[in-house]
Amino acid sequence: MKVYEKAPAKINLLLDVLRKREDGFHEVEMVMTMVDLADRLEMEELSRDTIIISSQAGYIPLDEKNLAFQAAKLIKERYEVKQGVYIHLDKKIPVAAGLAGGSSDAAATLRGLNRLWQLNIAEEELQLLGAELGSDVPFCITGGTAIARGRGEKLEHISNPPQCWVVLAKPPINVSTADVYGRLRANAIRQHPSLDAMLRSIQTQQFPDMCQALGNVLEEVTLPMHPEVQQLKEAMLKLGAEGVLMSGSGPTVFGLVSKESKVARMYNGLRGFCKEVYAVRLLT
Ligand code: ATP
Repeated sequence: MKVYEKAPAKINLLLDVLRKREDGFHEVEMVMTMVDLADRLEMEELSRDTIIISSQAGYIPLDEKNLAFQAAKLIKERYEVKQGVYIHLDKKIPVAAGLAGGSSDAAATLRGLNRLWQLNIAEEELQLLGAELGSDVPFCITGGTAIARGRGEKLEHISNPPQCWVVLAKPPINVSTADVYGRLRANAIRQHPSLDAMLRSIQTQQFPDMCQALGNVLEEVTLPMHPEVQQLKEAMLKLGAEGVLMSGSGPTVFGLVSKESKVARMYNGLRGFCKEVYAVRLLT
């Protein structure tokens, strides 16, 4: 038997860090939503007790370092599943881009194996399992739009933002999430974004207000380290984006536009100096 799952990329419309906790993690406040750019996972039952991962993408680990492998191992152990699984990852989400590709693959694996092995695990339980794999995994289990607090695992679902186009561009540099958080001085953040303003814009479905309310404190770390990310933000604004922000810890930048007629100009303009550009819709 086989099952298929889609693993969409997430973007943060807002990412704030409130403080560094005693356990070393950061207390965050984020507004997350998903975009229609997704990896596709195929999961096939194996009678042998083994986990095999394959992917057409040459640049991700296929062993126990892969988050899909870790998700499969966790669910197998916790629910004492004796069968094995072959998982093929058709990667479409750029890797180490700030789009939670790995977390979304892990979440899709948990959802898929729950169906494949007919385990009947409730969604809340899947989220708890996901939290053991990474802070973004619980959100990726359900998707939609949510406020994430704590390490990112405490979720409050909210209504979807106004529909728009999202143009994503990833400069050819790698940014480590751990490194960016490590360099952040949580008590010296210059400007915290307003969660209230973001929530109001979503509630009232006011696209221009949402663009105004975009904010990500990790830009204070990543932008000075990688000037090309700042340049990409400026280029997007020049090309007509109504709001721009770095996604997660970067280096991907996204620009929001309300009208389809503006998308081609932005896409083509960015492709002039950036190879990885995607024009997608919000997944509402
Ligand atoms: P986040 O924003 O959650 O930190 P990201 O988008 O920055 O995620 P990922 O694409 O999830 O980063 O990849 C981060 C690291 O995880 C990479 O170094 C990659 O080698 C490793 N990795 C493990 N499993 C996967 C997977 N299934 N897909 C992509 N990367 C994976």
